[in-house]
Amino acid sequence: MTRIIHRNPRKSMPVAHEGAGCFLIDTNNRRYYDASGGAAVSCLGHGNAEVISAITEQLHKLEYAHTSFFTSEPAEELADTLVNQSPAGLANVYFVSGGSEAMECALKMARQFHVERGEPLRRHIISRRQSYHGNTLGALSIGGHLGRRALYQPLLIDTYHVSPCFPYHEQEDNLSDEDYSARLAQELEDQIVKLGPDTVAAFVAETVVGATAGAVCAVPGYFKRIRDVCDRYGVLLILDEVMCGLGRTGTYHAFVPEGVVPDILTLAKGLGGGYQPIGAVIAHDRVVEAIHSGSGAFQHGHTYIGHPVACAAALAVQRIVQRDELVQQSAQLGHDLRTLLTERFGNHPHIGDIRGRGLFQAIELVRERDQRLPFDAQLQLHARIKQEAHARGLLCYPGGGTIDGEHGDHVLLAPPYITNLAE
Ligand code: PLP
Repeated sequence: MTRIIHRNPRKSMPVAHEGAGCFLIDTNNRRYYDASGGAAVSCLGHGNAEVISAITEQLHKLEYAHTSFFTSEPAEELADTLVNQSPAGLANVYFVSGGSEAMECALKMARQFHVERGEPLRRHIISRRQSYHGNTLGALSIGGHLGRRALYQPLLIDTYHVSPCFPYHEQEDNLSDEDYSARLAQELEDQIVKLGPDTVAAFVAETVVGATAGAVCAVPGYFKRIRDVCDRYGVLLILDEVMCGLGRTGTYHAFVPEGVVPDILTLAKGLGGGYQPIGAVIAHDRVVEAIHSGSGAFQHGHTYIGHPVACAAALAVQRIVQRDELVQQSAQLGHDLRTLLTERFGNHPHIGDIRGRGLFQAIELVRERDQRLPFDAQLQLHARIKQEAHARGLLCYPGGGTIDGEHGDHVLLAPPYITNLAE
């Protein structure tokens, strides 16, 4: 009957009808607690009246003006709001329609930066295994999500994957954080040297890994070492905070506790909180100055960049997040959620790890706890958990098994920042 191409045509989907706070309600009047904010999108929950009126007000004033003729008030104000929350130098914002587009934009910006500086050979992008950076061809190419890449492999551009920083699985028990970071930084350096340092444009990483592995934080010192390697070889550091940014992990930017500043930062999901599709790229002054003093203009663009209604929605979301101190709330509630998960599952024979930061927490399921062995991928355990949870009115974001290829199944929890412990 339906003409919509659904993600899973063999399964009938409930029809979402209404959203209220942390709950979604379907047309059969069933309520679901949105414990993953969709895919870590809904930071303010559903039905926020202030955001809705900001959208309608903007629509009454101006729905669209093409960015080759105009800028707009909400775009300028939103850029100011983001820059005011960012470290010095990270002061140039480009608005797009979502996370994949933000990644495409970041890659092209890195490429143009090098060309403008007289280094046209710099074209290679290095990224990490067990990563996800989006589903358009460029973003999919750099991602290490095996399941999502497989079908499109022949269409993807060449990219080079190094090891992620995944302490639970890949740091030996007797290896210090320092030595583990040094090993990973050396792997990156070896890859740069192998490709030829004057051919490498950028290194890309999610600051906290989301979809592929479930809220995986780097060990302390890892990103500092990575930053050093990038600087040594003139390689730009692109941090993807599409999923983990803007308060999700308990700091406004997830890179803050890492003690580094990226050259290019990508943002999306929590930016508009689901009220409008919007993403952003924040570029460091040195990147933008090279482009401006070179050919003058960033070459990349789409029809809907800087869409005024999307910017008005995101501006309202970000103002509420700041006014109501929701980043601090994400940190505190995340801490409380972790305590609850540990109390409930800490000794469970099939829960291997509980990890994350802020309201970005995950549990990893293992068949055998001591050896951290995953369940057989054919069991599709994460998919079954999603289904069982859904049937009980709980929305969570599982991954793993054959979908992600490498390690085991996990369940990611990323509820709206406005949730409470009782929920
Ligand atoms: N980067 C990361 C880290 C993501 O998690 C995602 C989406 O899940 C993307 C990029 C792509 O974002 P979008 O789905 O909005 O295109």
